Amino acid sequence: MDLHLSDETIAIRDMVRDFSKKEIEPLASKVDKDDFFPKEIFRKMGQLGILGLTVSEEYGGAGLDYLTQGIVLEEISYFSGSIGLSYGAHSNLVIDNLFRNANNEQREDYLPDLISGDKIGSLCLTEPSGGSDALGSMKTSYRKESDKFIINGSKTFITNAPIADTFLVYSKNNDRYSAFILKRSDGVETPKWIEKMGMRGSPTGEVYFNELKIPLNRLIKNEGDGKRIIYEGLNAERAVLAFGPLGIARRALDEAIDYSQQREQFGTKIGNFQLIQEKLAYMFSRLEAVRLLAYEAALMTKEKIVDPSYAASSIMLASETATQIAKDALQIFGGYGYTSDFPLERLLRDAILYEIGAGTTEIRKIVIAKAILKRSNR
Ligand SMILES: Cc1cc2nc3c(=O)[nH]c(=O)nc-3n(C[C@H](O)[C@H](O)[C@H](O)COP(=O)(O)OP(=O)(O)OC[C@H]3O[C@@H](n4cnc5c(N)ncnc54)[C@H](O)[C@@H]3O)c2cc1C
Repeated sequence: MDLHLSDETIAIRDMVRDFSKKEIEPLASKVDKDDFFPKEIFRKMGQLGILGLTVSEEYGGAGLDYLTQGIVLEEISYFSGSIGLSYGAHSNLVIDNLFRNANNEQREDYLPDLISGDKIGSLCLTEPSGGSDALGSMKTSYRKESDKFIINGSKTFITNAPIADTFLVYSKNNDRYSAFILKRSDGVETPKWIEKMGMRGSPTGEVYFNELKIPLNRLIKNEGDGKRIIYEGLNAERAVLAFGPLGIARRALDEAIDYSQQREQFGTKIGNFQLIQEKLAYMFSRLEAVRLLAYEAALMTKEKIVDPSYAASSIMLASETATQIAKDALQIFGGYGYTSDFPLERLLRDAILYEIGAGTTEIRKIVIAKAILKRSNR
């Protein structure tokens, strides 16, 4: 497998790095402290051409792969984990999912405004009754009447929901799971912005559908295709979102390296102590090992080799590694790391989310084990 980046991906990575340094870094602390989402950042990302990276040029995208989308997410997350999370939900969970599954008319109707950043998207799977067993415990239901579908139910923990215009919603009719495109103007209600310990500024909300009527052309694919769309979406989502914790971890390591070379104790830089050096060595090598797995999983998904074990392994290890690296970096900062004057405590709070969202660490272990047991019939 060729893990070298193409010239185009390198150029996009560098462009997003510059953009994020200029546009996101100055906002990152306010975004966290005030739980504030700078909506105009999506329009700027739209102008930069990074919202529809995996969509073909015919529909206004860049026709690139999941690896490039992941690398963009890593760069954004380096400066703000929460803007990275909102970017990932919008560009992968919604835009990429719609591009893969919607028909041409739906693509033409919804993708341009999402790719330009004029409209913001949300993917609604998790419900109050369950996230890990999202299908088994799903209560959001639909019924079909002559010229419309009618949806009832609620979703929770939905990224971008409080500010979204377009909702990709999973619902069921008896045992048939189906996916629908909903607009806020259809009557989607999002009364609550959920307050969180981390990823603050990435709006997380509840979503309600009360006898909500939509025309028949809002169904994605066919009735009953929802289950496949959910599983394929989760695979792509895990492969791409794994790069969010990579960005957070890389930032924590860079902060720790700088601080180790500045802070002095016992008459020398703390970076001269071997106990600090051991931490830095582990942080670096763990990060680089996880990056290789993340690249591999993203490339495999691109080639349509649907191997859930790689996507789940990638995000599982990336998120655990990011939490550990953020914690080690905080420790290297001593008391200062524990204060909100430095970004370490934010990095740690943000990193923890990736052990929960896109399926928890426990569920990822189940996915990995099931996949490897299934194919180990030597
Ligand atoms: C900030 C944030 C953003 C999110 N964004 C979205 C979004 O955009 N769209 C969306 O649809 N969802 C989103 N989610 C929801 C997320 O995917 C769920 O929170 C997650 O899947 C876990 O579901 P739950 O919270 O209901 O926990 P539960 O499913 O109730 O799990 C509780 C605990 O039990 C464990 N557990 C459950 N089943 C098993 C098992 N079989 N074996 C071992 N342990 C098990 C879990 O791992 C967990 O530790 C988001 C969540 C957060 C916090």
